[in-house]
Parts: sequence; structure tokens; C-alpha cells
Amino acid sequence: MIDTQTTTYKELAWNDWRKQAMLTTFWQIKSVWDECKQCPLHQTVSHHVVGDGVLPCEVMIVGESPGMQEDAVGKPFVGKSGHLLLQMIEQALAEVRIHKITFFMTNLVACRSCDFPDERGGRPPDTKEIYTCSPRLHQLFDIGKPKGIIFLGRLVQSYGREILHEKIKATKLEILDLPAPAAILRRGGVHAYDFQDQIAKLALFFELVKSPRELG
Ligand code: SF4
Repeated sequence: MIDTQTTTYKELAWNDWRKQAMLTTFWQIKSVWDECKQCPLHQTVSHHVVGDGVLPCEVMIVGESPGMQEDAVGKPFVGKSGHLLLQMIEQALAEVRIHKITFFMTNLVACRSCDFPDERGGRPPDTKEIYTCSPRLHQLFDIGKPKGIIFLGRLVQSYGREILHEKIKATKLEILDLPAPAAILRRGGVHAYDFQDQIAKLALFFELVKSPRELG
């Protein structure tokens, strides 16, 4: 059965994205979305967290929503979860002897999803918030032109695939689904029972993204 409500959110967001398709640099995209008030999430944030990293990039990393620390500084993946993610990336790159890879990091929504500014844990963004923010993901993807994309956590894996469906179909994009770093931290971080399995998946993904001649 078609979810008509979701279809409406998607159509509204995609029509808006087509109107904004002229945005061609990260700074143009950032300046538009830094001012965005299209969904209620902007009401409780200190900063919009549009994304950070290198564009164009080899790998785009998409998480769910900025956390408290990300909201405070306006950059994604700067808290404990972000540190764990970077540690995983470094370990995986070392395992396959890749010395350098270019990343861009962002989230499904640019504003921290919570109902009150001092709410510690926050909440997952809802469908309307995700689709309202989805043109930003298209714009970042269009200038990022990644060879691979990492979706962090189940919500991102499902919405990320849906939002970028046409682009994924049209490109030979490598996709990796990883648990959200916060979930790995809850299971013990580097001591989590599946930590080494996730590193192995990440290492294989990096090998697929890199062309053979760039491998060390
Ligand atoms: S989450 Fe996205 S759509 Fe909602 S206000 Fe923030 S930038 Fe705008």
C-alpha cells in the first residue's frame, strides 16, 4: 500500500530540490541550509550541521542526526561516536594499506533531532523532517560524486537508500551499511563483540572504492 503522506513529503522536498539545483559549491549549499527553517527542528538548535569534509570525495558518510556536541560546534561526528568512527576508519585503512581517502560526512537531517534544546539523548528524526531535509543530501551528493557511501544505522540505511535511490541506480556506487557508532559504543566500543567484523567490512569496502593502482 502506498503511504500517501510520505509520498507528499517526498514530492514537496524533491520539487524544492529541483528549484535549488543551481547550487554548485559546498559554501552555496551551506549558506542556504544554515538559514533553513523548513521543519520544526531548527527551533531547538545552536547550529545547523550541514556537513564537513572534502568535496568532491571518494566516500560519503551519512549518519542520522547531529548530537549535542555536533550541534554546539556546527560540525558532524565530533563527539565520542565520531571519534570511534574515525578510529574504525583508520584501523580499516591500515589493514588494507590505503594511505589516504577523501571523506565527506553528513547526516539525514542537518538539525539535531530533539524536542527540547537540553534533551540529552534526542530522538530519531521523523519522516517529514527527513524528507524536508533530503534535497540537501541530493545537493551534497551531486557535488561530492562519491564512489562509495556508508550508511550508519538502520534508519539511515532505509531512508538513505530511498532518498538516493535514482542516483544509486545510475552510478556504480559501493554501499556499506554499518551500525551507528553510538550503538557500537553502547555494546562496548572497541570491545564490542562485533567490532572486528565491522572493521573487516569497512576494510573490504575501502578496497572496492579505491582503484587498484592506488592501493599501497
Ligand atoms: S533539519 Fe533540515 S529541513 Fe529541518 S530545519 Fe534543519 S536544515 Fe531545515
